[in-house]
Order: sequence, then structure tokens, then C-alpha cells
Amino acid sequence: MTGQASPETPTKSILELLPEELPGEGYRKAQIAHWLYAKGVQDFAEMTDLPKALREALAREWRLLEFSLVQAYPSQDGSVKYLFTLLDGQRTEAVYMPYQNRKTVCLSSMVGCPAGCTFCATGALGFGRNLTAAEILGQLLAIAHHQGISPREIRNVVLMGMGEPLLNLKNVLKAIRILLHPQGLAMSPRRITLSTVGIPKGIYRLAEEDLGVRLALSLHAPDDETRKAIIPTAHRYPIAEIMEAVRHYYAKTKRRVTFEYTLLKGVNDHPWQARLLAKLLKGLSAHVNLIPFNPWEGAPVAGTPKAGVLAFAEALRRLGVPVSIRWSRGQDVGAACGQLALKTPKALTPLPEGAGR
Ligand code: SAH
Ligand code: SF4
Repeated sequence: MTGQASPETPTKSILELLPEELPGEGYRKAQIAHWLYAKGVQDFAEMTDLPKALREALAREWRLLEFSLVQAYPSQDGSVKYLFTLLDGQRTEAVYMPYQNRKTVCLSSMVGCPAGCTFCATGALGFGRNLTAAEILGQLLAIAHHQGISPREIRNVVLMGMGEPLLNLKNVLKAIRILLHPQGLAMSPRRITLSTVGIPKGIYRLAEEDLGVRLALSLHAPDDETRKAIIPTAHRYPIAEIMEAVRHYYAKTKRRVTFEYTLLKGVNDHPWQARLLAKLLKGLSAHVNLIPFNPWEGAPVAGTPKAGVLAFAEALRRLGVPVSIRWSRGQDVGAACGQLALKTPKALTPLPEGAGR
């Protein structure tokens, strides 16, 4: 639909380069960066203030498109699920959420995910491969292009799509650097949130990089026994070790950490777990984001009913824990948290080329 690459695509992607690494001398680099990230063009031929010969040379040397196919599935609530076919034929997904004048994209860092959390449709897919920095950034650029907006109009990025970003940290960091760069997407670090299942080494590394991005920790249980039953990586990384890394991240960056907690019926929604959670978060400037479970076909777990979600939230509130509930969007097109599984909704047809402009 948009951003289709041809078979003789160059092997090097220009989206792997920081603005200062772009081809040419100072002013040229700035011109190209402006076309890529402010204008969001998807073709070197459209960089009309560059000499034609240069545009042709750039197109011969550099790839600008990372997908052979981009399909969009609009939800009734305004979010849009995007399905990307990568140049090797594998696929990944992202979600566009244009609510309340805050345009947000949820990006993937992998094809599938190796972590295998029981409640997550992406986990059930298994691991395909890591995405490159260009493929991560390319999701945002393709969405902006399809929506007919400048990539810079997208002011919020959440790395909460497919995959575990801290297990693909090198590529994720490169993509974040281009998002933050004044000649890239010029984003504010506090508007980028990286969500992780809890890989301590990755959290320390992210703290070292000191990029100022927000961290969201998918805790989902305050006790190791429950956590191990739903999150396989919990066998390697006990809660105490993860909390130590999170405390370090907070001390180093002064960024309030969000704890994500998907409520599963009879698994992690007991009153004693609310009390233990409050105890665990004491002294941390933490915020709990409760996520009602988003169902998917074949899921081996069930969500806590709405009344239980409200009760768990109230219990936390009474214990002094700041809490919000993330009622999910995009369920009708399989775009809600944990539903990304490369399944295109049957009832909906993709938007026609250029729709939404
Ligand atoms: N791998 C990262 C980021 C992607 S998942 C992580 O796990 O944090 C984004 C959030 O959605 C995580 O908190 C994840 O646990 C949650 N999630 C996964 N499946 C879900 C489902 N079916 N319903 C609700 N939340 C889910
Ligand atoms: Fe991977 Fe996150 Fe899904 Fe777990 S919840 S399987 S870490 S994407």
C-alpha cells in the first residue's frame, strides 16, 4: 500500500545512519535529514532541492524502504494496526493511536518474541528475529507517510509492540538515538517509553546510556512463584534482582518507573498480592499501570473481570500506590496490548492507498 521496495533494493539502509553520518557535507546532511525525518519522504526522487544526479546516486547506494508491504487495519476506536512485511518476507506489527491530540505509535523491536509469557499472543508465536534499527524507525516513518503527516507530528513512542527491546538493545538504542536527535525526529526523551519483561543487565545498560527515556517494567506479580508461572524469564531473573536494577535506573535517571500489571483471573489478582505489591514498591516513585487482559484465540489464561480490576486498583490506591487502569484500544483489530500475533482481522479490509490523508 505504501513504502514498497523493489527487488533490486540496495543492501545498505540510510535509516541506520545518525543524521551526522548521512552522506555529503554539512548542509547536504541536514537537507537529507530534513527530507527523511521532517518531510518523511519515502523516495529519494522527492528530495527536490538536491541535484538530480545526487538523488539518483543516493538511490543506487542507499535503501530507504524497509518493507515490501504495509497494510493498515483501522479500529472503530480510532487506532490503526499496521502489519509490515519485511524484505526477507517475515512480518511485524505496530499500532498508531491518534488520541486527544497526542499522536502515539507503539513500535515492535522483534518479529515474535523469545520470552514466551503465557498471557501474550506474541510470546505464543515464538521468536522470529531481531529487527534492525532501520526497521524499528521505519515503522514510524511508514505510519506517518500513510497517515499523510510529518513524522515529527508523532510525539510519543512506546516500545510495547512485538518483542523484548532489552534483548535487542543495540538496535533499539540506535533507533532511539535517531528519534531523539534534533535533526532526526527531535523527540523529547520523556515521550519515549521502553517496556521490558525485566532483563537486569539490559536495565543497567540503559541506565548507563543515560538517554532519559522512560522505563516500564512488566512485573505482573509481586511474588516469584506466581511470576515464574506466567513469565518464563522469571526463572532466570528473580524479582529482587530486577527491583535492584530498577532502583538503579531511577537513581541514575530520576525518571519515575511505571510497573505494568496485567490482571489474570485467580492468578495475580488476590488481595494479598495487592498488599505485597504495595510493599515491594515502597520508597520508589513508582506508578502502577493495571492492564485488563486482552483476550486472544487459544490463550491459556483468562482476565480478571472488570469489577475485580476496579477492586485491585482501589486496594492499591488505599495502600498509597499511584495507579491507573489502561483500558485497551484496538481490540476489534487485534491491536491491543499482547494481541499482536500477525493475524489480520477477517472482518475488515485494509485502507486503500493514500486513505487517511
Ligand atoms: N516485551 C515487552 C514489551 C511488549 S508487551 C514487555 O513485555 O514489557 C507490552 C505490555 O503488554 C507488557 O506489559 C505485556 O506484559 C502486556 N501484555 C502482554 N500480553 C497481554 C495481554 N494479552 N493482555 C494485556 N496485556 C498484555
Ligand atoms: Fe515477549 Fe513482552 Fe510478550 Fe512477554 S509480554 S512474550 S516479553 S512481548
